Amino acid sequence: MRTAIESVLEYLLAKALAGKSDVVKALYEYFVEGKSPSTLAAKYGLSKHQVRGYVQRITEKTGSMIRARAIVRYVTPYVLKVKPIIKHLGNGVSRCLVCGEEMLTPVAEDHVRKYHSAILAEYIDAILELLARDFERRRRAARVASEGKA
Ligand SMILES: [Zn+2]
Repeated sequence: MRTAIESVLEYLLAKALAGKSDVVKALYEYFVEGKSPSTLAAKYGLSKHQVRGYVQRITEKTGSMIRARAIVRYVTPYVLKVKPIIKHLGNGVSRCLVCGEEMLTPVAEDHVRKYHSAILAEYIDAILELLARDFERRRRAARVASEGKA
């Protein structure tokens, strides 16, 4: 079974790969910085309804607001480093840089999930590994700090 962190990563990475990093940024600002859906809707040209929908998908995947906040905080910086594989050509049309297919922009994310799930899986694994290293480093630093106090 997929863990909450893997589900959130998959959800955010599919958006980043599809060139929708604005949605990833909006979710970060909602969960971590506490900005309201209406502020974010105005900033990123989304509807309040869309923002609430994205937020709901994340909280469903994590099971709680507190866990959602923690996961979004840790994974977003990595997700935002990922280069999109979908190029928006304008007029609602996009092209996939991996297979060359042209499509309507609203289905670009489905295209990523359906045809490039291997790329998605590779990024999930790579980011999980980086996160594990981060946690290990932080754990060691905390131990050194507490030994220093003793
Ligand atoms: Zn493609």
